[in-house]
Amino acid sequence: MSASVQAAASVLRHDWQQAELLALFDLPFPELLHRAASVHRLHFDPAQVQVSTLLSVKTGGCPEDCAYCPQAQRYHTGVDAQKLMSTEAVLEKARQAKAAGASRFCMGAAWRSPKDRDIPKVAAMIREVKALGLETCATLGMLSAPQADALKTAGLDYYNHNLDTAPDFYGQIIHTREYQDRLDTLEHVRDAGMKTCCGGIVGMGESRAQRAGLLLALANLPAHPDSVPINRLVQVEGTPLHGTAELDPFEFVRTIAIARITMPHSMVRLSAGRESMSDELQALCFAAGANSIFYGEKLLTTGNPDVERDQALFARLGLRPMAVEVHSGTVHADIVETPSTCERAA
Ligand code: SF4
Repeated sequence: MSASVQAAASVLRHDWQQAELLALFDLPFPELLHRAASVHRLHFDPAQVQVSTLLSVKTGGCPEDCAYCPQAQRYHTGVDAQKLMSTEAVLEKARQAKAAGASRFCMGAAWRSPKDRDIPKVAAMIREVKALGLETCATLGMLSAPQADALKTAGLDYYNHNLDTAPDFYGQIIHTREYQDRLDTLEHVRDAGMKTCCGGIVGMGESRAQRAGLLLALANLPAHPDSVPINRLVQVEGTPLHGTAELDPFEFVRTIAIARITMPHSMVRLSAGRESMSDELQALCFAAGANSIFYGEKLLTTGNPDVERDQALFARLGLRPMAVEVHSGTVHADIVETPSTCERAA
């Protein structure tokens, strides 16, 4: 890569155009991979992969209608609704995740949005998990500004809230909340000072232009998400998207590559759908700039390759888990015990 191309690639842009992204999608596959891999090397060690573990702390029974999701109570998918786990049970899973090499622990709850009375319980989990020396992430649905502030006060590092798909395909996937609701939650998270984890799902029947539209929406957010999970649809019987035509695996790799090029400082994460990917496909994704995975625990309610398979793959590819960047002293110093706005409101 020439010096001028290198300089251009290191600038964070928020003015990407649809035509530019489509032109990237149209590149010959080896050329696209080369460009993405070159951008990747400017900002990251390509041998390092950040490893997160995701635990479903409250499963199923969700009132939303996301067409891909087995946790929506309106679909008959065999997922039993469960109550919020106890802090001690969550901590036990977090200790296991840390022992297995995870640096970040993500707690997911199938809520439209948390009730204010839920926030202190989740805050307690966050404090305890963070005290283990893990980065913390949560995905709890839509957040109000005071809720986001309360989670930040508890020590939450990342909040996951996906855009899911392009604005012009969104109405075919979700009817119970607006695209703007998602943008609002992301704004509250940023304003609270937390890092954002925000991506989407491909293979839901969208067109290439709509895949470009998703990446465009992500890359043109006021701040690039710190983590960008790119999910490949896991088709679950009983959900409306069961039976959707499979996405060409190379198109998935192209999507990863363009996420890397357009959001060069972000962690690009292989998330749901990784279980069904061959080792070769995952290797292509790493070559295209993916540098984060979920492993270990079940990925919410869909399966995930077991830890041993991931460790074997890392060894075959010469990859190393990225070290956690928080140190116990800093973690504890970051936790400020103040009553949250939500606690006062509850
Ligand atoms: S994706 Fe989240 S909000 Fe949508 S139905 Fe599933 S749990 Fe509910």
